[in-house]
Amino acid sequence: MHIAIIGAGPVGLWTAIQIKKRSPDAQVTLFERYEEYKRHHVVSIQRSSLFFGASPHHDEHDQRLFHEMLGYTRNQLRSRPMNRLFVPTSAIESSLKKCALALGCAIVVRHIASLDDICDLYPDVEQIVIANGAHSTLRKQLLGEDDVHSESLQYVVEMKTYVSEEVADSMETGMVARRIASRLKTMTFEYRGRPKAGRVGITLRFFVDKEGFDALGEASFKQPHIGINGLPEELAQDVRVYWTMHGLDEGMLETLSFSKLQLSVYHATRFADSYRGKPCFLVGDAAMGVPYFRALNSGWVMGSRLAHLIGMGAGSEKTVRRYNAYGKVHQSAEFALAKQKNGLLNRYADLRKLYRRLKVGGKQQREMVL
Ligand SMILES: Cc1cc2nc3c(=O)[nH]c(=O)nc-3n(C[C@H](O)[C@H](O)[C@H](O)COP(=O)(O)OP(=O)(O)OC[C@H]3O[C@@H](n4cnc5c(N)ncnc54)[C@H](O)[C@@H]3O)c2cc1C
Repeated sequence: MHIAIIGAGPVGLWTAIQIKKRSPDAQVTLFERYEEYKRHHVVSIQRSSLFFGASPHHDEHDQRLFHEMLGYTRNQLRSRPMNRLFVPTSAIESSLKKCALALGCAIVVRHIASLDDICDLYPDVEQIVIANGAHSTLRKQLLGEDDVHSESLQYVVEMKTYVSEEVADSMETGMVARRIASRLKTMTFEYRGRPKAGRVGITLRFFVDKEGFDALGEASFKQPHIGINGLPEELAQDVRVYWTMHGLDEGMLETLSFSKLQLSVYHATRFADSYRGKPCFLVGDAAMGVPYFRALNSGWVMGSRLAHLIGMGAGSEKTVRRYNAYGKVHQSAEFALAKQKNGLLNRYADLRKLYRRLKVGGKQQREMVL
């Protein structure tokens, strides 16, 4: 059996490993458009997603993979009390790649523009796994125009800037920094990066309402809005407050970059279908997306499950049906979790508003009495 996996990202690679472990005789070929990976962000991994539904066969490949990728052996991980690990995607991808190659998977550097490329150029491929990320055009080819359902959960304006290490050291931290954030009208979370080449990245995420979000116009990650001029008034005010309370150089206000992002949940309208008689399965971001540090974790669990179903060798129609049924259950569970977390965030935002109203109201009353 020859299985093609399109996209050798973290989920494509994980799925390849799981398939090889469940079906050692299968020929697995991954197609990846880039020789070198472009992603460098750090992801939070939940221990359970490494084990849930994964192949129960442990061998030296597992031990090496876990140790290289996470710094712990599989057994150490199982017995550790912590559930979350923070790992750079580059470390994840290089360890997974090594493991996939050691298990006998092939990785071909090639951009697959259409499912026909696989059907025509690799006629011996019997099953296709689509793992080429959130913006998969292959998903559209498989499922048609109405390929995805999505729902926005939060509207976020992200501000990014860099300050020198010296300036970063002089900025307030801990409780004081939290108190500064609490002074802002908009619910805001601040992230400071690690020093790199003498600079520290600062990211502020402002959770705005839809009106404020739309008011900013086009501002994407690739083409951000520069400077605080033209920002919705409340947001501009918050940025100024943050800036002055941290004692930062006001001249920088006009160089800050702002981009918009929506935290949303989405899922493919089907998780598997046939294309030219070949069963095709969607995994990872190509299949669905959830926020709050779950997307990759969810992708791995799906990949493990798909490998299990393929390993059962029940015939393509049955496997497609079973994977679709499983996908629906998995998606409902992940969406419920995401919405629960989102609800907590909204409660926090409401409490914050109430607190501000009481505090400001109290202050005004005191001033009137005086
Ligand atoms: C800033 C940030 C922070 C995140 N933090 C977390 C977190 O803490 N926890 C978490 O669980 N998730 C997190 N995520 C999400 C996580 O990174 C993704 O869920 C994960 O990368 C999805 O993996 P994937 O393999 O499905 O898709 P991708 O990572 O998008 O990989 C797809 C691969 O397919 C290749 N490809 C695309 N098209 C083609 C084609 N036509 N032919 C050949 N190859 C192709 C691409 O080059 C790529 O290598 C975060 C994401 C971001 C951006």
